[in-house]
Amino acid sequence: MDEILACEDTRAKSLLLQCCCAPCSSHCLTVLEDKISITAYYYNPNITDRTEHDKRAEELKRLVGILNSEFPGADIEYAEGPFEPEKFFEVARGLEQEPERGARCAKCFELRLRETARKAKAEGYDYFATTLTLSPLKDARLINEIGERIAREEGVSWLCSDFKKKEGFKHSVELSDKYGLYRQDYCGCPFSKRGN
Ligand code: SF4
Repeated sequence: MDEILACEDTRAKSLLLQCCCAPCSSHCLTVLEDKISITAYYYNPNITDRTEHDKRAEELKRLVGILNSEFPGADIEYAEGPFEPEKFFEVARGLEQEPERGARCAKCFELRLRETARKAKAEGYDYFATTLTLSPLKDARLINEIGERIAREEGVSWLCSDFKKKEGFKHSVELSDKYGLYRQDYCGCPFSKRGN
């Protein structure tokens, strides 16, 4: 990610950033806000509980408002995809017992990134990316492999990242405390809630 942003002036470019939740997005948005024009895109059909889904969406929207006030010129936009848990259950079928970081998660990443890439392509964004690489529980190498493959298939550029580097996760915890963000204690799908 640093390499792409460093080798060209991206301030006039646009990024559709798939955001899983406000806490993870806090670090990602603050490191990117002065480098590229960002739309924070909440698309998470893996969060199949409607109350939880909407709570995380509202918290992300609140965070975007805070950052736009705190960083003059940030101008981060917010967009929300549909609530469609049936799409998650379809890709997770037969993988319900997989542990976190297993085969179900790869399908879950693909579902969210495919939709983000298609929206980015349809709406003329220069790049798409995700906040998912922030979590120490998620494999950034796998996420980037999936993102790059989808980029080739959908014809839109992937912004490679590993947001957990340079103490990104620690920074997200600090920002979550600072802004009083809701921090959920499970990844999102009902199988992760069960403690798999
Ligand atoms: S544990 Fe998280 S990444 Fe894995 S399938 Fe469930 S919601 Fe998706």
